[in-house]
Amino acid sequence: MQDTTIKNLVILGGGTAGWMTAALMSKVLGKVVNITLVESDQIGTVGVGEATIPPIVNFNQALGLDEKEFLKQTKGSIKLGIQFENWSRQGEHYMHAFGSIGKNFPFCDFHHFWLRNREQGGADSYWDYSLNYQAAMNNKFAPLANIPNTNLPGISYAYHFDAGLYARYLRRVAEGRGVKRIEGKVCDVRQNSDTGFIENLLLESGQVVEGDLFVDCSGFVGLLIEKAVGSEYESWQQWLPCDRAMAVPSCSPERIPPYTRSIAHACGWQWQIPLQHRTGNGLVYSSEHWSDEQAHEVLFGNLPGEALSEPRIIPFRTGHRREQWCKNVVSLGLASGFLEPLESTSIHLVQSAATRLVKCFPHRGIRQEEVAEFNRQSRVEMERIRDFIILHYKANQRRDSDFWRQCEDMSVPDSLREKMELFRSTGKVFRDYDDLFTEIAWQQVMIGQGILPQDHHVIADGLNEGQMKDLMGSLKTLIQGTVEQLPPHEAYLSHN
Ligand code: FAD
Repeated sequence: MQDTTIKNLVILGGGTAGWMTAALMSKVLGKVVNITLVESDQIGTVGVGEATIPPIVNFNQALGLDEKEFLKQTKGSIKLGIQFENWSRQGEHYMHAFGSIGKNFPFCDFHHFWLRNREQGGADSYWDYSLNYQAAMNNKFAPLANIPNTNLPGISYAYHFDAGLYARYLRRVAEGRGVKRIEGKVCDVRQNSDTGFIENLLLESGQVVEGDLFVDCSGFVGLLIEKAVGSEYESWQQWLPCDRAMAVPSCSPERIPPYTRSIAHACGWQWQIPLQHRTGNGLVYSSEHWSDEQAHEVLFGNLPGEALSEPRIIPFRTGHRREQWCKNVVSLGLASGFLEPLESTSIHLVQSAATRLVKCFPHRGIRQEEVAEFNRQSRVEMERIRDFIILHYKANQRRDSDFWRQCEDMSVPDSLREKMELFRSTGKVFRDYDDLFTEIAWQQVMIGQGILPQDHHVIADGLNEGQMKDLMGSLKTLIQGTVEQLPPHEAYLSHN
């Protein structure tokens, strides 16, 4: 009988996606599968992607990385959330702060109490009850599982890091665990004439790389998933109008804020990501509304420090592969789809797809049921994130450009429309199965973008005015007291 066991795994691409996949696969499957990674220095990597979300902490731990070493190697900093400026209206801002807000109640989220308190004349901002937000604004950080002497959740955090250095660091980790790296450019992909499965990759050097399963981390080009096995790309540009980014690093400021800034402009938005050695900047914009020259003017007019290089323009197509896994090719990273970096989800999508691949890893041959389940989970995950990102555009009250007016007028996916309507009328929001973002994330963005619910949960009426005042007052005091005790963010980085 023919042995169909998957023994040879080939990863094409040595960007963040390729090396994250190689590091995870070698850790979990290294004893049973031979892993080879092919990359071309001549082609290089996309070279952006510096902000992450909290699950990265678990990923690094699963790989066995030491946080201190990781921050040193990647010149990283701590991220407590994303500050959205000028998104709802010019001059206004809010934060999507990670972690919890207020206090967790079993049947009714804290924001219902906040809404009730507001009706009674309370003037506090929702973010007065966010430990992450208060720490971010005061430039403070320490890992904290709970607010001391309480069972209230502590700080939830992620990282900003230099993605190129992260890939290099993971390369050393993966090679140390037996991953074989081949430097070279793939010039031909050979497929079985009956099945269409890829059999091997031909490099310009003449070397042939055989494999049973191929992970396509070749970036936007999708060399295997698109060019070879032909998995279709579904565009989501009708909802996410930006299609270009201009990126440039600048000198690092004296203080390193522990949060990402996302600043909306007339026809796009700008990111600022503080690292130890520089600030990563970029402008995401719509080429229908802005030329590259206009984008350049806006970006360079709003840099937080002197530019360290010439800007790079990166065109992109928002959307995803209908089949992220097709035949014996699984695409990860930019080869599998792209959602703009507004909520820093791309590196997370690599992490979750690589984890999913481990869970669905084929044993004796590739089974269609496994492939279908992998693709279903991938699609649901992408669609939920897509909705969350569209929300930022749709729920805007800017009237200063056609771009923002068109975003407000556009029809959105039913899944998002229903969520917004439910929240607007009742204050309720539910995390769908497989939704990366929690209810608290959705609440913050909806409230921050100006969707103020017309009602609150009836449970919040259970507190009389005095009890409500006590609850709110004690939470605020606890949060303020905790923030005062935290060390400065820079102290945490330099201590590490
Ligand atoms: P790439 O970095 O493009 O790597 C592709 C690899 O394939 C390279 O090693 C290349 O050499 C190799 N390759 C290609 N063709 C061949 C060939 N023929 N032969 C051999 N090798 C080949 N993500 C976040 O999580 N947070 C962010 O803040 C963020 N910001 C972003 C901003 C922008 C403007 C963009 C475009 C993306 C951003 N991302 C962000 C996404 C993030 O950059 C990517 O998800 C991540 O870097 C993974 O890229 P990749 O490895 O898939 O592709």
